[in-house]
Amino acid sequence: MPVTSAIYAEPNSWRLSTYRAHGGYTGLEKARSMDRADIIEAVKAAGVRGRGGAGFPTGLKWSFLPPDDGGPRYLTVNCDESEPGTCKDIPMVMANPHMLIEGVAITSLAIRCTHAFIYIRGEVVHAYNRLLSAIKEAEDAGLLGDLRIIAHAGAGAYICGEETALLDSLEGLRGHPRLKPPFPAAEGLYARPTVINNAETIAQVAAVFHNSPEWYASMGTEKAKGYGLFNISGHVRRPGQYEAPFGITMRELLEMSGGIRAGHKLKFWSPGGSSTGLWTEEQLDVPLAYEEVLANGSMLGTRALQVFDDTVSVVRVVRKWTDFYQHESCGKCTPCREGTFWMKQIMRRLEAGKGREGDIDLLYDVAGNILGRSFCALGDASATPVRSAIEKFRDEFELGMTTPAAELFPHAASELT
Ligand code: NAD
Ligand code: SF4
Repeated sequence: MPVTSAIYAEPNSWRLSTYRAHGGYTGLEKARSMDRADIIEAVKAAGVRGRGGAGFPTGLKWSFLPPDDGGPRYLTVNCDESEPGTCKDIPMVMANPHMLIEGVAITSLAIRCTHAFIYIRGEVVHAYNRLLSAIKEAEDAGLLGDLRIIAHAGAGAYICGEETALLDSLEGLRGHPRLKPPFPAAEGLYARPTVINNAETIAQVAAVFHNSPEWYASMGTEKAKGYGLFNISGHVRRPGQYEAPFGITMRELLEMSGGIRAGHKLKFWSPGGSSTGLWTEEQLDVPLAYEEVLANGSMLGTRALQVFDDTVSVVRVVRKWTDFYQHESCGKCTPCREGTFWMKQIMRRLEAGKGREGDIDLLYDVAGNILGRSFCALGDASATPVRSAIEKFRDEFELGMTTPAAELFPHAASELT
């Protein structure tokens, strides 16, 4: 049963009246009658885990806050969605912003916070505006009590989606990842205890209180509870956002999205955005849940399932991702700043059919030197698809020593550039 997208198809699904007609804000009412510790216990019992990619248990994260000293404690919602292929949080804000706001209000009760921030990608002006008007509707209806929710529009740097860079950015600084520990729970925004969660995660909190932790925990797999938003893009007949229980397979999702476009076959797909390995037919039956995906050598990430058929050049796709990471690298640490630059140069040569002797091994080696040696997850994210592409499609890289990708895959050249 869809949870987050249940009202997406209703007329004016984003309005407070529509949300309330479907039981909206009854969860907040319920939470108001509970102790703070019991709210956190309910989220733990439901088994909600972080939806931004890492899958960290949400209730556990909240319980890491130090004992209350009476000073400010903040909630910060990460809605700076920008991983290539990822489109789950922004459509949710457009279609069902009140579920997020109710989740913010419940979480704020649980952690005793009176100022909550939603950091949303600034380029998506329509989503920012929708959020602003939904917050106003909730305030005007007297639903938020003394809680102030501040929607903050980011300025378009991918690194500001990294939780500590996001905090820097909120404080008015240039977004650079901070050293962890201290984790934000201990020392976050303005050096005060801060809970930071992804937008979809916080919306799940509202769902738990609309129903019950037991109801929530009855969906999904043993370790990945609930329904998740899966974004399917690329060469399927019906790309879009699909809400399905964790543990669903890509084979089932391909069926739901109409399958690969007519006359073509699947070449590869990404299980979780551009930061993960490249998967093929062989992984179509892997349950899409955190541990199961990890056991097969990748991360579930943001559930951005990008599908590529046989017209596509692997070298070109990975080169485009490498360009992205090189452009977005914040430059703070050497392996990522220099490594993404060198990967980009080599990938460009290989794409142009002008590879130099030893280039493929050099590329593999540069990527290997970024992995595990970077300050934040962006470095690893840039190297993982490169290593995976060479491991699985080395023959295509070999062809790149002499033949331009545009000649090998002329159709894809016009589509993907
Ligand atoms: P992480 O595993 O380092 O941390 C996960 C969360 O748990 C963080 O909030 C962290 O503060 C908290 N945490 C971990 N250990 C803790 C401890 N001991 N005490 C207190 N808190 C603790 O992951 P990350 O670097 O925050 O995120 C990486 C993920 O982000 C990847 O899975 C990637 O797929 C995803 N990602 C998402 C997007 C997007 O657009 N949504 C973009 C890029 C990356
Ligand atoms: Fe910045 Fe990249 Fe280092 Fe992260 S890994 S701190 S993005 S240079």
